[in-house]
Amino acid sequence: MSTQRHIIVGAGLAGCLLAWRLEQAGQRVILIGSTELPNASEVAGGIINPVTGRWMTKTWNFDTLIPCAELTYRELEQQFDIALYHPIPLIRYCQNSTDTKRMGRRMRNPRYADVLGEPIAVGNGPTALEDSHGSFQIKQAAHVDLPLLLQTLRAYFINKAIFRDERFVYSDLRKTSNHWEYNGLQADHITFSEGTGMQLNPWFNWLPMTPAKGETLVIDCPDLNLPRAIYHHRKWLLPYGDGTYRLGATFDSGDSSHEQTAAGASELLKAAQSFIAAAHRMTVKQHYAGLRPTTQDLRPFIGDHPTERRLHIFNGLGSKGASLAPELVRQFLAHLLAGEALDPEIDITRYHDMFNSSIHAPH
Ligand SMILES: Cc1cc2nc3c(=O)[nH]c(=O)nc-3n(C[C@H](O)[C@H](O)[C@H](O)COP(=O)(O)OP(=O)(O)OC[C@H]3O[C@@H](n4cnc5c(N)ncnc54)[C@H](O)[C@@H]3O)c2cc1C
Repeated sequence: MSTQRHIIVGAGLAGCLLAWRLEQAGQRVILIGSTELPNASEVAGGIINPVTGRWMTKTWNFDTLIPCAELTYRELEQQFDIALYHPIPLIRYCQNSTDTKRMGRRMRNPRYADVLGEPIAVGNGPTALEDSHGSFQIKQAAHVDLPLLLQTLRAYFINKAIFRDERFVYSDLRKTSNHWEYNGLQADHITFSEGTGMQLNPWFNWLPMTPAKGETLVIDCPDLNLPRAIYHHRKWLLPYGDGTYRLGATFDSGDSSHEQTAAGASELLKAAQSFIAAAHRMTVKQHYAGLRPTTQDLRPFIGDHPTERRLHIFNGLGSKGASLAPELVRQFLAHLLAGEALDPEIDITRYHDMFNSSIHAPH
């Protein structure tokens, strides 16, 4: 495999993992990402949950994604001597009798055998939580410390002098006869991983991104005393073990701002008050907000620009970046470095009609 020069734009989970793997593969990498710009990865809960949504369905491609995610986070843990990947029981509460019935059906479905644990009958869960329709345990859940991952990889790249903490200015990118030039840098390939910043990217903004705002809180609730698990009761509650809890997340496709809102905090606190059985004093310690890079068909945006074959995109991780990113990086690098075909479900060629009908080509 020949050594090529790569610029990666965006230093969130996507860009950082990609830069790390490319560098490991012996490629020459420069990562350009502004830590001043808003970022989904730093506000995310980092939860890996195999059974999600109102219909309690198994995450798309879960059986492939999770082994790769665990291996990747464990490898990072070893290389940098940090703790990133925390397997944790996840308890999902049924909200009504329809949920309870649906869960019964899932339990009998062999496809769910590896991710569903025993049902927990009404009254057998922690007494602090409202429990009128029972709950069940979800196996293979985990919590990934994404802020620590970003901090560690960015520090590593700074140390290797391959990270530029700055905003990428699209109009400064120039194409020459055999490479791309950007403010004194030359590159054979440019890969864009700007999360929702993609909407300002003149080469890829024709892709249908539909950002979904999310807000989470860190609350102090010292007398709640829940055993270590993630509790999913319409919203999720993750105990940090010191009397504080992460509470999340709102989901709002109608607000494209990155700022925290009083309405978001109130929605989360009301939800917590409705599922915490006794009145507990809760103090908000932190309030986070961000935009998930969600896509129209809920599948990632991976692949090559339709006409500029050395411009690439690695984006669209939606609300499941922690689960998706490691395996998608593996597939994208096999494509970029070894010419392997991408899974059509993630390949942006599925949207080429949109490119053709858009007013495109910034040059
Ligand atoms: C409230 C909330 C809760 C979430 N909870 C979970 C969860 O529990 N589990 C889970 O798996 N996922 C969760 N997610 C989703 C997860 O955050 C995303 O899937 C993932 O972080 C996306 O990573 P990314 O690198 O693609 O985007 P980002 O993290 O947004 O990174 C993109 C980076 O590119 C930079 N950038 C953009 N434009 C430019 C430019 N022109 N020049 C330089 N830099 C630029 C941005 O500043 C940013 O740093 C949550 C998201 C939110 C908002």
